[in-house]
Amino acid sequence: MERRSFLKVLGAGIAGAVLPLDAGAEDSPDVSSDCGMLVDTTECIGCRKCEFACAGANHLSDKPLEAYDDTKVFDVKRRMTADAYTVVNRYADAAHPDKPTFVKLNCMHCLRPACASACIVGALRKQDNGAVTYDAGKCLGCRYCMIACPFQVPAYEYDNALTPVVSKCSFCFARVTAENKPPACVEICPPDALIFGERTKLLQLAHNKITSDPERYIPHVYGETELGGTSWLYLAGRPFEELGFREFPAKPTPELTETIQHNVFKFGIPPVLLYGLLCAAMKTFDAGPDLPPLERGGNDAALVEPTHPKRRHGRRTPNSEE
Ligand code: SF4
Ligand code: SF4
Ligand code: SF4
Repeated sequence: MERRSFLKVLGAGIAGAVLPLDAGAEDSPDVSSDCGMLVDTTECIGCRKCEFACAGANHLSDKPLEAYDDTKVFDVKRRMTADAYTVVNRYADAAHPDKPTFVKLNCMHCLRPACASACIVGALRKQDNGAVTYDAGKCLGCRYCMIACPFQVPAYEYDNALTPVVSKCSFCFARVTAENKPPACVEICPPDALIFGERTKLLQLAHNKITSDPERYIPHVYGETELGGTSWLYLAGRPFEELGFREFPAKPTPELTETIQHNVFKFGIPPVLLYGLLCAAMKTFDAGPDLPPLERGGNDAALVEPTHPKRRHGRRTPNSEE
């Protein structure tokens, strides 16, 4: 295997890192063979090719690659939307004005995903290979997952009046498991800023990089412990707070969301109260310092009722397990 290919996919073959389906978020996870992604922000050149590849692989857009050359998008910090499962933001560096840092954002694929714990019908679930996937066929449209996610990742198709779905990065679950390919964003990344492989090996690699080049990296792998750990891991040459990352404790939030969710059934908590409880619970994990607030249909206090008990979708939903 060429060095370049090896770097994109670390360690054993993809299939070897992928185990059968079916894992509940409430299980204590054995993450030893989980897939992971190491994002080295010191390597990222902000080319946005990952955005292009992701949009294509997920049938979100047919914009040509040249459309992603537009650097005006870096003038504001962006969040993921229903049409963009990943976005790259630029952070100026006062110490090195000619060398800003670019940060690719997407679902972190938490080891203990709060979104899955908050979902009362199991539409979001942690797969055995580490991916957190979404099944539109099960989704009630309550959007509790959007409130529960501490990274404010899930987006919603507010423009779709008939069959709106929650959307987020699936870690290219279908592509990785059925086609034995690496995620589309990894495959296209020119400087190998993204490395796909087993999370445990990626952690070793990340720490080796830090040890071997302490001038280049700060001694912190973001996602190693935050909120119990995430499958996506980040390296940086500057403090993560400067790059829009929030500080989180090592304790995962699902314990909180699971408790709330279980009490829904135990005490028959109505949706409006559940929404209030989730909002209160997640308040400390609100929007990142530089990112726009999460869009919640324009009104945080609005009652979020299930809007589409069972829907059919015209568009392919690769996040779905089906
Ligand atoms: S980042 Fe948010 S949407 Fe992604 S797995 Fe974690 S809780 Fe779920
Ligand atoms: S893993 Fe797949 S879905 Fe996620 S950001 Fe990369 S290309 Fe998009
Ligand atoms: S393709 Fe790679 S280098 Fe280009 S913006 Fe995405 S992560 Fe950065």
